[in-house]
Amino acid sequence: MKNCNPRILVEEKHLHVLQCKTCKRIGLSFHNILISFSPNGFYTFSKSVIALDFDKVCIRQGNHTPFVILNSCHEDIQFNFSKEEFFQLKSGLAKAQLLLDAVSILNQ
Ligand SMILES: [Zn+2]
Repeated sequence: MKNCNPRILVEEKHLHVLQCKTCKRIGLSFHNILISFSPNGFYTFSKSVIALDFDKVCIRQGNHTPFVILNSCHEDIQFNFSKEEFFQLKSGLAKAQLLLDAVSILNQ
């Protein structure tokens, strides 16, 4: 998203969602992860994360803190989130999606 003109959709500790006013691409930064999406890609990703129930999909291994694994758009890269991280991500994505929906309604 070089040369982009970003508007902040969500700004929280360790979580930012930005959208470029020009090319409409969406950037998600969460801790040390930085992902860029097309608007449709972001919609698909946020919808699938929001629909996930952590307790149903998490992996429990011995004494380790349960975690959930999300696939990235690259088959060799997955992300792993603790329950707290996952809930923050989920809530940030839901807020961003709500704003994007509102903007798209206003622009109709
Ligand atoms: Zn741009």
